[in-house]
Amino acid sequence: MVSKIALEEHFLCPGFDDYWKTTVADVDPAVLAKVVARLSDFDDLRLQSMDSAGIARAVLSLAGPGVQIERDSATAVRNARAANDFLAREVQRRPDRYSGFAHLPMQDAKAAADELERSMRDLGFCGAMINGHTNGQYLDDPALDPFWERAAALGAPIYLHPADPPALFPALAGHRGLRRATWEWTLETGTHALRLVFGGTFDRFPGAKLVLGHMGETLPYLLWRFDSRAKLYGVKLAKPPSDYIKQNIVVTTSGMCSTEPLNCAIAALGHRHVMFAADYPFESADEAAEFIDHTPLSDDVRADICFNNAKSFFGLKI
Ligand code: ZN
Repeated sequence: MVSKIALEEHFLCPGFDDYWKTTVADVDPAVLAKVVARLSDFDDLRLQSMDSAGIARAVLSLAGPGVQIERDSATAVRNARAANDFLAREVQRRPDRYSGFAHLPMQDAKAAADELERSMRDLGFCGAMINGHTNGQYLDDPALDPFWERAAALGAPIYLHPADPPALFPALAGHRGLRRATWEWTLETGTHALRLVFGGTFDRFPGAKLVLGHMGETLPYLLWRFDSRAKLYGVKLAKPPSDYIKQNIVVTTSGMCSTEPLNCAIAALGHRHVMFAADYPFESADEAAEFIDHTPLSDDVRADICFNNAKSFFGLKI
């Protein structure tokens, strides 16, 4: 079994249940109780799952949407800070196994930048996870430029996690089976990442780093088409869209235990930009490990995807 760093591993902290429960309204209560137990545990349940999957280190992040759906900015700032302090205490109990991503109040660009900086400098976190749009505002909004400026200056990777869209896509109406993780989140999150590319965020902040789960939310598959149509439609960017996807974005294997999209991501982005994640406890860490341990890859590439890429990209001192 290859030693792994896992990058999309979730927890829940006291006071955040109400935010989180908005995403699981249709889930069976018995299943939900099990998930909540796993999200809230930092000891045996989580560590046993990590041991069984060969995960040496998990970078922990709050289960979404968190304060991304908080209507009051001051409450968002206060709660994000509390979540980060809570996580820092848990990481401190097991610094050999856990690292942390900051939770950020994107309602206020300066407060979010300050909290990112505090989380990295004082709490030792290695970046942040943002759970999609914040009350309908996407990360390419020019009002958030002060945030990106600071994130780029700090070299902070920003993991863009799926979320429900602000309103149902008309094309999904009447098809409950296409909602959420089946397809809706891919459409929402892939589009969100493309807004950053096409909106020029990476032209304004060339050092900005974005992380996408789910093998890149379909982006690696579509590079040629983005470039071709951007030219046709006269999109004004310094470089073809694919250049930003290759240079500013890395992807993880979260929730995608499948060789074909892995090979596509490696071919499109280069294997140094592909990293392991399990998406615990929403996906099986054992299944994710079984996949990455046995899918056809050279030993060097497998070790890079499982461990070395994340260690260097996130600057983990291990
Ligand atoms: Zn996740």
